[in-house]
Amino acid sequence: MQHIDDTASSSFSAPEIREPILLTPGPLTTSHEVKQSMLVDWGSWDQDFRDMTAKLRAELLAMVSNAHDAFDCVPIQGSGTFAVEAMLGSFLPKSSKTLVLANGAYGLRIAKTLDYIARDYQLLDKGDYLPPRGDEVAALLAEDPTLTHVVAVHCETSSGILNPIEEISDAVSAAGCKLLVDSMSAFGAVELDMGKVTCEAFVSSANKCIEGAPGFGFVIARKTALEAAKGQCHSLSLDVHDQWTVMNKTGQWRFTPPTHVVAAFIKALEQHKAEGSVAGRGARYAQNRETLVAGMRTLGFETLLDDRWLSSIIVTFFNPADPAFSFDQFYELMKQKGFIIYPGKLTVVDSFRIGCIGHIDRHVMRNVVTAAQQSLTQMGVKSASPPQQALAERAKLLS
Ligand SMILES: *Cc1c(COP(=O)(O)O)cnc(C)c1O
Repeated sequence: MQHIDDTASSSFSAPEIREPILLTPGPLTTSHEVKQSMLVDWGSWDQDFRDMTAKLRAELLAMVSNAHDAFDCVPIQGSGTFAVEAMLGSFLPKSSKTLVLANGAYGLRIAKTLDYIARDYQLLDKGDYLPPRGDEVAALLAEDPTLTHVVAVHCETSSGILNPIEEISDAVSAAGCKLLVDSMSAFGAVELDMGKVTCEAFVSSANKCIEGAPGFGFVIARKTALEAAKGQCHSLSLDVHDQWTVMNKTGQWRFTPPTHVVAAFIKALEQHKAEGSVAGRGARYAQNRETLVAGMRTLGFETLLDDRWLSSIIVTFFNPADPAFSFDQFYELMKQKGFIIYPGKLTVVDSFRIGCIGHIDRHVMRNVVTAAQQSLTQMGVKSASPPQQALAERAKLLS
């Protein structure tokens, strides 16, 4: 594998290590120090490991503005989806009816989860381009007084759209309903202020903006909601109330914890703090996004979303219309240059995605653009502009 290198000035590349850079929003590229922290075996019952668990919970809570003493943090083994399902199963009573706000694959996955766990819901599906807005949430809640809860996705990672969570929260509170948030790909880089967002609980995972290794997620929930969740969950292993009570009593996870991943996460938290916590991490990702989008636009690529909804987490680009372009070939050529990109996850148009999160900086992003340019040349693609039809469809939906 050949790496492009103009990164002498960058602390975010280790050119002696010929491993690909993951431009995927989890698992993502982690720092050398994070990887190195996984070289020790820990006993899960040992006091040293219990201290690590306590530290992890405390530091995550400290990242939430205005959480005061009202919230607690409960880690859950598994990938992010396990934590989402744990939150839904634990905080949605069997008699609840939920409004699910979807504008992409992760919102739809929430609806599918509610099918599995037999909780009643209504779906607002906004397609791929547009966020659910406060006024339409207010209207839907007013229309159906049997709705008790709303579930929203903070950053919808399938398109990269940053949903207006504060405006959604205002509408939910005004209607006297309760909000749950999937903040998987936003938490740690986008501020979540409990003074501005009123929610019962939200979730994220180890391998997104905190830049740890994959293996667990965490639920940050109001203590009153944690108390009320007793006996409510459909699943033993996903019962947030039970995990919370046992963890508070013994300092231990109920079942085998991902010890190495927890050790790596402690290191990742240290690096997150050193970078300036949420604001610092968010600023680097914003630079990554700006460098990437400006460079790709120079090549003729167009972003799926309007600038106002573009997050700093991941960006979706339309596939070029040029018949010489093939995504599979583009993927392979980018991989040969050291970059793993992500196929699109949209329902209608052909697209691909490039993540801006992980242990990468704008120098890396400049190299990504150079690699894209070289790959287009290798394929014989003359212009990266998208099909007129895709642009027309977007214009129609946005008007
Ligand atoms: C990554 C992600 C998830 C969880 O995905 P897993 O593959 O289970 O880790 C859920 N929601 C959003 C918005 C995500 O970005």
